[in-house]
Amino acid sequence: MDGTLQRFLGQGATVLRDALYPQTCVLCDERVEEAHGLCPACWSETPFVAGAACDLCGVPLPGAGDGHADRCDDCMTHARPWDEGRAVLSYTGGARRMVLALKHGDRTELAEAGARWMLRRARDLLSDQTVFVPVPIHRWRLLKRRYNQSALIARRLGLLTGGDFAPQALIRHRQTASLDHRSNVERFAELEGAISAGVDDLSGRHVALVDDVMTSGATLAACADVLRRSGVSRITVLLLARVAKDR
Ligand SMILES: [Zn+2]
Ligand SMILES: [Zn+2]
Repeated sequence: MDGTLQRFLGQGATVLRDALYPQTCVLCDERVEEAHGLCPACWSETPFVAGAACDLCGVPLPGAGDGHADRCDDCMTHARPWDEGRAVLSYTGGARRMVLALKHGDRTELAEAGARWMLRRARDLLSDQTVFVPVPIHRWRLLKRRYNQSALIARRLGLLTGGDFAPQALIRHRQTASLDHRSNVERFAELEGAISAGVDDLSGRHVALVDDVMTSGATLAACADVLRRSGVSRITVLLLARVAKDR
């Protein structure tokens, strides 16, 4: 088909789609120009990480890039058995609303926006050779919630990049008690032996370990340990949001 005609038909399809299904903001009902976008009000209260950030957890690092460390204090003191990490959002304001709506509010379509934002933030680290592995949840929790929000994002990332999606690469055997309000030492101890490798052979592969939010990093460390023992060659952590300071 002639390129101009194709473009014309493409534009026609976009106009038609917008008329039939007006695009709304990811976080509210406001009309927006672009799919998976935010309206100006939601944008202003959603803290995207831009500029210098910690190499391992993606938390913004004021003053980095001018001779200062490229790791945050947390990542210098805790085990981070992965190679690099990026976060899209700081976990406050609109970011917190989005993560909670995706996790508990059945707003599964938010995984699409989350995956697109993650890809934009970490495109240079990902390729069609990457395997996307979600942080697993226990099957009882999966039954109750009906979906694993991190798996929804990881699946979309696989589709967007052409990489593989391996939802069973990690298995969570034990339902761990809530890790909120625990010390970091308790969190890391609670996860001991809770996660193991599934059936996928990931030896020599590049894995992007996907999670919706990172607090202490204990769960991610447990997952990365298992992946490393399975012979994974490189582990990139991808986060929708990073809690800026341990509560
Ligand atoms: Zn909005
Ligand atoms: Zn860090």
